[in-house]
Amino acid sequence: MKKLFTGNEAAARGAWEAGVKFAAAYPGTPSTEILENLALYKEVQTEWAPNEKVAVESVAGASIAGIRSLACMKHVGLNVAADPMFTFAYLGVNAGSVILTADEPGMFSSQNEQDNRHYARAANLPMFEPSDSQETKDMMVEAFDLSEKYDVPVLFRMTTRVDHSKSIVTCKPRKDVQDKPYEKNIPKYCPMPAFTGKMQEKLYKNLEKTKEFSNHCKWNYIEDNHKSLGIIASGVAFRYAKEVFGDNASYLKVGFSYPLPMDLIREFSQKVDTIYILEENDPIMETEIKAAGISCIGKDKFPRRGELLPERIRIAAFGKSKETIKPNTETIVGRPPALCAGCPHRGFFYELSKLKDTMIFSDIGCYTLGALAPYNATDACICMGASISGGHGVAQAFKIKNEKKHVISVIGDSTFFHSGITSLLDASYNKSSYLTVILDNRITGMTGHQQNPGSGYDLKGNKAPISDIEQICRAINIKNIRTVNPNHLDEMKDALEWGIHCEGPSVIITRWPCALKRLSTEDKEEFPGVFTQKYHVEMDKCIGCKRCIDTGCPALEFSRNQDGKMSITDSCVGCGVCSQVCPVNAIVKG
Ligand code: SF4
Ligand code: SF4
Repeated sequence: MKKLFTGNEAAARGAWEAGVKFAAAYPGTPSTEILENLALYKEVQTEWAPNEKVAVESVAGASIAGIRSLACMKHVGLNVAADPMFTFAYLGVNAGSVILTADEPGMFSSQNEQDNRHYARAANLPMFEPSDSQETKDMMVEAFDLSEKYDVPVLFRMTTRVDHSKSIVTCKPRKDVQDKPYEKNIPKYCPMPAFTGKMQEKLYKNLEKTKEFSNHCKWNYIEDNHKSLGIIASGVAFRYAKEVFGDNASYLKVGFSYPLPMDLIREFSQKVDTIYILEENDPIMETEIKAAGISCIGKDKFPRRGELLPERIRIAAFGKSKETIKPNTETIVGRPPALCAGCPHRGFFYELSKLKDTMIFSDIGCYTLGALAPYNATDACICMGASISGGHGVAQAFKIKNEKKHVISVIGDSTFFHSGITSLLDASYNKSSYLTVILDNRITGMTGHQQNPGSGYDLKGNKAPISDIEQICRAINIKNIRTVNPNHLDEMKDALEWGIHCEGPSVIITRWPCALKRLSTEDKEEFPGVFTQKYHVEMDKCIGCKRCIDTGCPALEFSRNQDGKMSITDSCVGCGVCSQVCPVNAIVKG
């Protein structure tokens, strides 16, 4: 049976065909859809974990207990999961286990560009790197077999184009993989000093064996064409290379990229005059190949930053790009990214941006856009959970320096569950005095509406217990807590004034559903009338002052053709924020 699959759909299919029975992930572009697709297979227990560390730990547990298991995350997620991953490498597996990292060259929706092939080397784990959907599916099946054969969890690196582009995949039935019996084995599963040396020795020995695999597996192969130019390429860079050079070059395709197939690389180097290394991001293969004394050209010629697209390869290799139809740039207007019409963060940022003498530490989510116009609110942002711990550091520094500035940390509900709780615990434990605002929009917004421990549903759509953010804050000794509707500007303003003047750590929870959310029964009960009535501008009243534009809502439209009056487009969802700003009450319901 053939199917047209994205790489992410193919990864899910591969895991299913490999007989996986347990999978966990935290959503993150470009990996999110893998678990969403795997959840459609009834044979697999799929779970959103609160963070990537938890995902890998539960997957390691499932492997030890004897079932095949998969953890998925975006590239920065592997930093969070690195702690258990490094030790899981020492323990090895019982049933096969794969850790998938979806790297994002070009960082279209990430805070950094990170090449997770480094993790394979650092943790001594074998790594696969597919270049299209068919390979993704087939390699995934093989990764589980390899994991069991060499008693090690396996890393699986995808990148954005492989995750999101579609190609034909030949599907196979699900393998009938027998569960492994669980047997207590303290020297294997308890990394105490008495055992870790042996574990390390076993890991290194097994890695040596995978070198043999790398030189002879079907994923690493030579394609002989022209002898003047040879290209060594991994992942999607191989597809790009073929597109640019076609039959005018010979290729060494690397699909199993750690350990590198050095014997094969040596053999290839004897066959061609010049070698180009094409790899997205860091010069990892290039460094190893040069260290082996093989002359090659890599990042001196080809870009290191961003996606290594065919056009960029073409320009680097031939100094010119392909003829294409040029767009008419006169008709294209640049638009900065913006919070959606009716986004519940809008009222909050509108009021927040008016505060003076305040340092605002943001987290990772849609609300990171609070750094942009018209709010220009955010001062700093690092990674998931860092807004609260960063804010703590800032508050402590201001105290030491005797600087009278307020500190506000901003974090979303899913991010709070991910790694904000421990940060807030730190602030509470160390008697910090600053405000944390938890933007609870009842879903994980930025990655496309995944459920989380506070939303009341699990990945498969079943009801789940709700973890109450206010109760969690109380349990970690936060005494100053207010929950507000961020669309009510007076209430929001008052809460902010209160929060920044509290003694000790304070928390404001803004609670209103994401404007794009498919409302649950519980949402409809809690927020009666939500998103049911739009607003419009009464033209005779509007004085064209444009003050409503300061709310930043993209549903507001100002046109000089309408005698300088404001209008509201159909994308309005009726949050009412703009109507509270208008000085002449020109914006009304209906
Ligand atoms: S009520 Fe105003 S701020 Fe809210 S979505 Fe409509 S136009 Fe935007
Ligand atoms: S704030 Fe009111 S009066 Fe001013 S432009 Fe907007 S709708 Fe018109």
